[in-house]
Amino acid sequence: MVALAIHGGAGGDGPWKGPTDLDPDRIACMYGVLSRVGSLLESGVTALEAVTIAVEMLEDEPLFNAGRGSVLTEDGSITMDASIMNGSDYSAGSVVNVTKIRSPIRAARLVLDNGWPVMMNGDAADDFAVERGVEQVTQEWLRTSLRKAQWQKWKDSKAKPGSTDEDDKAVLDHDTEQMGTVGAVAIDYLGNLAAATSTGGMTGKPNGRIGDAPIIGAGTWADNKVAVSCTGVGEAFIRTCAAHEVAARFRAGESISSACNNMLNMVAPLGGRGGVIAIDAEGKIAIPFQTMLMYRGTWEDGVIKTGIGPDLFSH
Ligand code: ASP
Repeated sequence: MVALAIHGGAGGDGPWKGPTDLDPDRIACMYGVLSRVGSLLESGVTALEAVTIAVEMLEDEPLFNAGRGSVLTEDGSITMDASIMNGSDYSAGSVVNVTKIRSPIRAARLVLDNGWPVMMNGDAADDFAVERGVEQVTQEWLRTSLRKAQWQKWKDSKAKPGSTDEDDKAVLDHDTEQMGTVGAVAIDYLGNLAAATSTGGMTGKPNGRIGDAPIIGAGTWADNKVAVSCTGVGEAFIRTCAAHEVAARFRAGESISSACNNMLNMVAPLGGRGGVIAIDAEGKIAIPFQTMLMYRGTWEDGVIKTGIGPDLFSH
């Protein structure tokens, strides 16, 4: 039995107001990812390769906050974080604050495949990836007009670098139209699990900020029992080792869905509204969120479901 879950970020407060004009494209992208990568899993691709390809495809959709279309930092540039973990051998790879590559998750995967070190940052991480064949791109290519407009709104209204959702001084990635982070979790035909997460972070983030997405155990985790990818205000997910918290709770006997919900309940008081996708070694999937919405989808036994607000729809 193989299965896959993906997310395109969680965000917003209050009741679900229905889809925006941009949402059909996001749904189409998620559907494309689920159908392609679901079939690949069925044909024998490993969970590790499946989550790499899924996140790579999500990074390429400019409406999601990862790769091209990432949100802009305080100074208007793009810096991206990504990580990936393979559950069968605990191998992991992570890149932090990369600025000139098309696919941060492919770079993280190359770090994993290289075996040592686990994390690389900045120019060295970019160079490492480019030398190994990851496409080099310009900041101008990564920056979309949508993100530039959102950044300008942030700048005009609430320019306080480094402020977080809690003090509401920044327009974050968690406004309904400014949200993102993408991730995937999968189980393959051997029963192996893997997780991957990639993000541009949050609009107006200070230079040098590192979110939870590239931190193994915070934004991403996979072992031989569970694979997890988180989205939300990264600082709170770092402070709770959120992705690993799900694994620890699951190992202690909680169901996958209780483990995810209890983790989110730990993160929330720290200002970490968000969501999580997780899959266990029996192929059970949990995709809870505490925000207004979370872009998400699943592939199980050939059945594809996607959702944004409270409901999931079969395709
Ligand atoms: N977790 C990401 C970060 O803090 C943001 C997000 O998930 O929207 O960088």
